[in-house]
Amino acid sequence: MESIFGYMERYDYENVFLCQDRTVGLRAVIAIHDTTLGPATGGTRMWTYPSEMEAIEDALRLARGMTYKYAAAGVNLGGGKCVVIGDPRRDKSEMLFRALGRFIHRLGGLYITGEDVGTTLREMEYMRMETPYVVTLPASWGGAGPIGGATAFGVVQGMKACARAVYGSDALEGRTVTVQGLGAVGSEVVPLLVKEGARVVVADIDPEKVQAVTDRVRVEVADPDEVVGREADIFCPCALGGIINAETVPAFRVRIICGSANNQLREERDGDALEARGILYAPDYIVNAGGTIFDTDRLNPGGFNRERAMANVARIYETMSSLIRIAREERIPTYRAADLLAERRIEAVRKARLLASRGEVPM
Ligand code: NAD
Repeated sequence: MESIFGYMERYDYENVFLCQDRTVGLRAVIAIHDTTLGPATGGTRMWTYPSEMEAIEDALRLARGMTYKYAAAGVNLGGGKCVVIGDPRRDKSEMLFRALGRFIHRLGGLYITGEDVGTTLREMEYMRMETPYVVTLPASWGGAGPIGGATAFGVVQGMKACARAVYGSDALEGRTVTVQGLGAVGSEVVPLLVKEGARVVVADIDPEKVQAVTDRVRVEVADPDEVVGREADIFCPCALGGIINAETVPAFRVRIICGSANNQLREERDGDALEARGILYAPDYIVNAGGTIFDTDRLNPGGFNRERAMANVARIYETMSSLIRIAREERIPTYRAADLLAERRIEAVRKARLLASRGEVPM
């Protein structure tokens, strides 16, 4: 990144806050991308950034990603992110996160934080001691608790929308689905697919994760090295990012890719290459938004309501269907249609608000 202001101007960021407290060794960056839809919301990441500039760049990039995720999911939140410079295995302390909590509190609700890479519900509890602007919390603290199940449910809704577009029916019965990764999300996706009547093939590099799933449901187990090239109807990546890349794109033998893994496209051109191969790609941030939708429900009037939260997660089906429609109408790959969907929603809200402020009625 050549210049912070240059970068902020290019992608229209609102603020960057640098937080320092030498008594506890805190160095953190809070980036606010866009608050048109609501308060900037996104997790706190802790990482050993090689330079301050890289920490700022990461906070900015991740904050913008959150704007798109919420906008496309129909959630009234904006995009923000916090990064703490430090080693999550060595440098965590109650006082450090309480100090960060106090900084977040001073922003008065402009930014709402949550769990991310390098942080756990424990650190969220510390921050919650200083500020109410924290979302991912255990149920005992008024939070939604674990979110993997809601993320999994959202992935399956997205998958059904893809099946309807490709096969003319959203039924997954009889379809073969390969699931890569059986962690918090994958292990919950599998029973849902089995319930839908799909033939499920699973793979994980951790044999204990495989065992835990095969103890619950009847599925076929594949070698983790072979799962990508395996013939199936649907590939469901629930492990690492970057799984769609120059090596894997020619190897896929599926019609649909729909899973929870973040940043599945190693590069944008991999999305174009998938499109050229006629494989329907469900953009990750659209179909993996279930956990976030579920988790942030507690910001609605009256606090957390499980029924409303799950109804909103189920709407991923309609979101995915709309973006497939946009992609077809505009002849663009689905990953571009997802961005367009998000940008259109923000623009519509911005315009309606402007007209309302002038006393005019939106068209
Ligand atoms: P997790 O760490 O609980 O599980 C990941 C699993 O993938 C582990 O069991 C791991 O052994 C396995 N794995 C790693 N490399 C593998 C490989 N090469 N082949 C097969 N298996 C492999 O993570 P999670 O919370 O289940 O999240 C999975 C993905 O979904 C991540 O990319 C995460 O960022 C994303 N995501 C998760 C949530 C959520 O609610 N937890 C929400 C949105 C996005």
